[in-house]
Amino acid sequence: MGLLEQKRHFSVNLLDWYMVNRRDLPWRRHNNPYFTWVSEIMLQQTRVDTVIPYFNRFIGNFPTVQALAEAPEEEVLKNWEGLGYYSRARNLQAAARQVMELHGGEMPQDKQAVFALKGVGPYTAGAILSIAFNQPQPAVDGNVMRVLSRYFLIDEDIMKGSTRVLMEELAGELIPEGRARDFNQALMELGALVCTPKAPHCLTCPVMEQCSGRIAGRELTLPVKTKAKPPRPEQRLVAIVEGRGAHRGRVLVRQRPATGLLARMWELPHVLAAPAAAGKAAGPLADEPAMALLAGSLWAEGFAARPEVLATHAEHVFSHIVWSLQVYKCTEQDQSNELPLIAAEARAAYDAQAAARDRSSSASAAPESDATHLSEPGTLHAENNASFLSEESELMSPSDVSDSALSTMTLTGKGDGLTYCWIGPEDMDKMAFPNIFLKLISSYFAGAYDQVND
Ligand code: SF4
Repeated sequence: MGLLEQKRHFSVNLLDWYMVNRRDLPWRRHNNPYFTWVSEIMLQQTRVDTVIPYFNRFIGNFPTVQALAEAPEEEVLKNWEGLGYYSRARNLQAAARQVMELHGGEMPQDKQAVFALKGVGPYTAGAILSIAFNQPQPAVDGNVMRVLSRYFLIDEDIMKGSTRVLMEELAGELIPEGRARDFNQALMELGALVCTPKAPHCLTCPVMEQCSGRIAGRELTLPVKTKAKPPRPEQRLVAIVEGRGAHRGRVLVRQRPATGLLARMWELPHVLAAPAAAGKAAGPLADEPAMALLAGSLWAEGFAARPEVLATHAEHVFSHIVWSLQVYKCTEQDQSNELPLIAAEARAAYDAQAAARDRSSSASAAPESDATHLSEPGTLHAENNASFLSEESELMSPSDVSDSALSTMTLTGKGDGLTYCWIGPEDMDKMAFPNIFLKLISSYFAGAYDQVND
């Protein structure tokens, strides 16, 4: 069997298989470049089953490039809520504005122009050009590299840039003339359904006869992939501050800064308890020092609140960091009367922690992750967050009310450019939260933590 024949076998049999077995996916029903683009961005790091309802809702709300370009960012993020990797949504909207300004609202068909769109890398550019415009461009991601590594018995490390270049050349050569649209989707489909990472279905694979990896018994040991560094664990303390008086029935949330990770998304106040030593788990903090530290951090942000009881544990997975979250129910205190009492002890705990804390704030540089799932009862595993508590945050009084578009809610103050809000359950659908906080706050309003004893 020569290499040319092996390539021909792959292309012909894969295409034949795809035309019979292709899944009916919403973005495949219309040959619309915008739909292709949105779907490819959503599918990055995310499973097809997860993407389908998000895609349908997103396209329902933003049916055209223009609609997306003109939408308020908060609305775009709200439609992305739960998908993770929120920079994808912000980049998508920024790129939609590029398309409006530079290309009159029409998706460009030129490779350099597509590549110049924000958030579009080589894979996505290849996918858009081939699927939307049937251009013979390779679209090589991890799935495709896995299939090609196995079929052609390629022992190169797929984490290396040189391997990607090799794979792109190979994938380009495999595209049958005039069939780029179907072929690239067929390759993706084979990786998703048949040549899966852990248990490839070789016996039903349309290219099994000439698969060098299978013939050599290497299907489970390919592709070669150097291991990424394990994520670094961190212990974090999270406050669910229950309002009193005018804020009764509401909880305190804060909005992240306008730039950086998860820009402008809302979250519960939280603080780094302890960065872990290299290679070691951070470990939970005992309740007493944890509550003192949390009160101190809230105080530094301008809020008098007393942590009362541990509500739950949660886990939050980044690409490079895993946060173990200790979530405390806290009660709002009267600023003038009670703050000094809280502050004395809490300030000492907070100052001690601040001195030891990694000031470079590892979280602010952390890539986003879409690892979001529930595991054991009472424990949330979720995604995306970072702490940015500033030591320079000023103590704010209730008169320091921020002027925000969310005028229906009670805005309490801000420290170091952060905006805070007291929200009730009715406000949840007006604001975009990273998944972990969406789940924690929703659980709180649903009464999930009512049983914990104060
Ligand atoms: S025969 Fe097995 S290893 Fe080879 S491409 Fe098919 S599923 Fe993958």
